[in-house]
Amino acid sequence: MFKLGLTGGIGSGKTKVADMLAELGATVIDTDVIAHALTAVGGQAIEPIRTAFGEQAISAAGAMDRDYMRDRVFNEPRDRKRLEAILHPLIAQEVQRQTSQASGCYVVFVVPLLIESGRWVDRVDRVCVVDCDRQTQIERVQTRSGLSRERIEQIIEAQASRQQRLAAADDVLDNGAHISTTELRAQVLGLHQQWCNLTG
Ligand code: ATP
Repeated sequence: MFKLGLTGGIGSGKTKVADMLAELGATVIDTDVIAHALTAVGGQAIEPIRTAFGEQAISAAGAMDRDYMRDRVFNEPRDRKRLEAILHPLIAQEVQRQTSQASGCYVVFVVPLLIESGRWVDRVDRVCVVDCDRQTQIERVQTRSGLSRERIEQIIEAQASRQQRLAAADDVLDNGAHISTTELRAQVLGLHQQWCNLTG
């Protein structure tokens, strides 16, 4: 079973593609979903985060306060490293657990910062990039989250550039503004069939 890394910029459509691949029978392991679960109420990362960052990092309900931590790690690289030092080993453990139970032709790892974090590039056999232009990214994220345009642009600037991502891609899914869900699904099906053939 080979390992496919699925990546793309914020709002590019990774989750949408991952859902389509799961429907086709691939095992999908989403590091964002894992990170959310670890930092939700009762998650394994909550107590280490409370110890490292204090009570203000935890909401009244007992989950990580995402807005607070987003601002904190954005403004202070040392805090980002501390949070990563808590989360990365826990994510790796859960990825390992899910991988050991994988079925299907191949396993898909959804990793938003795959290009940025060299470790992942070495761990996967193939990289697929969900590609879309910057304006479309901004519009999709605004519709979904209500983050300000300025904030979304800051996040885009902090991520790998579209060119860097495309340079690292073995396969590209075009999910630009003009691409309908039906068109995206057709592209996904085409690649799924190729990937299953690669598995032999
Ligand atoms: P993030 O990195 O922020 O988690 P993502 O890459 O996982 O984002 P999605 O959540 O899949 O992106 O898509 C972002 C938003 O854009 C969603 O609301 C999704 O429904 C919408 N979207 C994605 N692709 C299309 C498309 N081809 N047509 C219309 N809407 C789309």
